[in-house]
Amino acid sequence: MIRLYDTMSREKREFVPQNPDRITMYVCGPTVYGRAHIGNERPAVVFDTLARLIRHEFGADSLIYARNVTDVDDKIIAAAEAEGVGYRVITERYYKNYMEDMGALNVLPPDFEPRATAFVPRMIDMIQRLIQGGFAYVAEGHVLFEVVNDPEYGALSRRDRDAILAGARVEVAPYKRDAADFVLWKPAGEQAEQVALSFDSPWGRGRPGWHIECSAMIEAFGTRNDAGHIETIDIHGGGLDLIFPHHENEIAQSRCAHAGAPLARFWVHNGFVDMGAEKMSKSLGNVVTVNDLLTQGHRGETLRLALLSAHYRSPVPWTNKLLDQSKAVLDRWYRALGKLQLARPEVRLDDKETIDVFVEESGLLDDLNTPGALADLSNVASVILGTDLNILSDDDATAMGSTLRGGANILGLLHQQPDDWAKGRVIEVDIADGIAVGDALDARIEAKIAERAKAKKSRDFATADRIRDELKAEGIVLEDGPSGTTWRRE
Ligand SMILES: [Zn+2]
Repeated sequence: MIRLYDTMSREKREFVPQNPDRITMYVCGPTVYGRAHIGNERPAVVFDTLARLIRHEFGADSLIYARNVTDVDDKIIAAAEAEGVGYRVITERYYKNYMEDMGALNVLPPDFEPRATAFVPRMIDMIQRLIQGGFAYVAEGHVLFEVVNDPEYGALSRRDRDAILAGARVEVAPYKRDAADFVLWKPAGEQAEQVALSFDSPWGRGRPGWHIECSAMIEAFGTRNDAGHIETIDIHGGGLDLIFPHHENEIAQSRCAHAGAPLARFWVHNGFVDMGAEKMSKSLGNVVTVNDLLTQGHRGETLRLALLSAHYRSPVPWTNKLLDQSKAVLDRWYRALGKLQLARPEVRLDDKETIDVFVEESGLLDDLNTPGALADLSNVASVILGTDLNILSDDDATAMGSTLRGGANILGLLHQQPDDWAKGRVIEVDIADGIAVGDALDARIEAKIAERAKAKKSRDFATADRIRDELKAEGIVLEDGPSGTTWRRE
């Protein structure tokens, strides 16, 4: 039984889905106007891990996981105007970059990935229902949600009116009845890209506000009850910073459009990635992107493990030490896996019963305790490395192998072959579906090894040693064995 901390009730509760054959989870995705930083990527990794756990517990086809793409936004228009390009150039470029990051982090594509631009008619429909219900009003080409008409407003963030006004940094605008009211629709504006990224509506050409986007897209994949209303989804996720105002506003819109039905049964929020004493954020200018880190030579799997090293609700302090430790952990795990595969090639690595025991005992079911699970996996790796595997019973070998490989796979880790990891092979990302496909880029090293073997054969030891030293300088260690020379990265 999975237990999850629900931000709405401020308590950990048993996760009992409404329909275990059709569990619904929605997570707020990227706004595609710039490279995402590692803090932006944390929810993608956290909820990908939760999705893997749900599928393990309830079945491979039990979950419908939706993660949207915000491709209508003032920041997109500003980026397009600044570069002098069409908005689509911006959104396509950064969507592609995002999918590359997802591939590097081994984040599986969601089942449903709605783009805001494809759901504007549904947003307009929802806004019309809110106006008809008396929850929204039209003023000077804008449509605004009237917060005072929703008595439950503020329940998620537990804010009173003063805190709402402070937290939303609301502008007092002449067309607003109240400063706390928020935008559902706004007029297009005059700039070329504002006009280009606008849509016809009953209130003139314009574009939707950010919050209505998620409410409308959740409608698009939720199931309907007998009365035709959208059923409450099981899990709504996102970063802590979205609790207010974004999720508070999503809740208000959806509940008022759905005759009071709550939007989600569980509100799950992940903590920040911290740089020093501060949260990593674009506005503070202390960001590091996945692309920066990969360019520096870190591998996607190392980044994923680093992101999972803290409990998802706690901050992750982002340091070089964390990256070094994460790499060292993976080195050990892969060494243990390689040792086991070499000594006992017949052993299964996916025994379901074993993996069930791991999931049960590791604490993963208890609000996704990933630090506990990582510690358990490291313990198994240590046992494997310290054991003579040839005298191990089949059952014990299967239990160790399935815990290590099968357990790590639930966290989206240890999905490579030990040899590929040791050689630091670069995994290329197939952008078409966001799934990483392995591709070895080490032909150059193999060629050097062949050159060295040739030199040794002709007793040119000076050349052979030079090649070995050159590779060593690049961090490539050669190991001569009975069946030839193998190599690994230091
Ligand atoms: Zn959202």
